[in-house]
Amino acid sequence: MPEPAAARTPDGTPPRTPGAPTRPPEVDRVAASRRAVAARRERAALKKDVATRVITPQELLRRALADPASPAGAMRVPEFLTAIPAIGEGKRDRILRDLGISPVKRLGGLGSRQREGLRQFLDARWPELEPRGGRSRLVVLAGPTAVGKGTVAAHIKEHHPEIHLSVSATTRTPRPGEVDGEHYFFVDDAEFDRMIAAGELLEHATVHNAHRYGTPRSPIEQALAAGRTVLLEIDLQGARQVREADPSATLVFLLPPSWDELVQRLVGRGTEDATERARRLRTAKTELASQGEFDYRVVNDDVARAAEEVARLAR
Ligand code: 5GP
Repeated sequence: MPEPAAARTPDGTPPRTPGAPTRPPEVDRVAASRRAVAARRERAALKKDVATRVITPQELLRRALADPASPAGAMRVPEFLTAIPAIGEGKRDRILRDLGISPVKRLGGLGSRQREGLRQFLDARWPELEPRGGRSRLVVLAGPTAVGKGTVAAHIKEHHPEIHLSVSATTRTPRPGEVDGEHYFFVDDAEFDRMIAAGELLEHATVHNAHRYGTPRSPIEQALAAGRTVLLEIDLQGARQVREADPSATLVFLLPPSWDELVQRLVGRGTEDATERARRLRTAKTELASQGEFDYRVVNDDVARAAEEVARLAR
């Protein structure tokens, strides 16, 4: 039987029933899913901007509250929190509980008390968190021998799991307690040569005229690509090479409280013989003279304090 004339409109689409949408539902669905994808992308871009410190979390919150229908406003609070460097899932859940915010809440839908709570929380935790102005998230910690770079880096590794600490390759032999792959990759000269030839090292240097040390490139690239901050604890020659390779890297120089203190620390740790100590102290004198090349100087008067200062600079 032929279809009744009213069953099709001139362009072939079904007729509109009064009160129904003008377009067929599948067209709406496609348009809606395109809009949803675009909104998701915009939210992802905003989260990346917070994670890489292009904008502050406070700025994102301001945008969300100014326009709750914007991508910032549509962002769920848990998503927002985990975009902030140093907030993992555990911390996120604690913050939500403390502020009495449900995990399904969107930033634009926060009540006035919740907004105020979140704002105060952000201001108290990150008063100094300014946008990085396009700096790379590659941070170099250098400084003279025995200043405590290793101890400061170990403290950061323990307390800031969000920061990726690079593991260097070296041709020196392990000290008691040092674990291959954790403290260093202990390799022989042939393997070190192979790594250089294969372009596997971001930088490398002979330190204290003795052994060779180098930074494996690929774990760093992976961590940076994942949006993590990477910390390299390396010597001055390496720091200069990194600056050359990436001028936007952040260079931090760790200083001893005094020269006498530095000598004391080198003698006290007892890991070097007298000849080696004398050699390292000569290197240290030259290294101290180069502190002006660095973006920041941090005095290692107290390991935990100095480590927190470096971690803050690395954010
Ligand atoms: P140690 O033998 O005491 O562990 O380290 C000696 C020196 O080598 C330290 O000053 C340390 O910062 C530096 N160092 C460690 N890893 C690297 C690296 O990958 N590259 C460079 N250039 N120096 C490194």
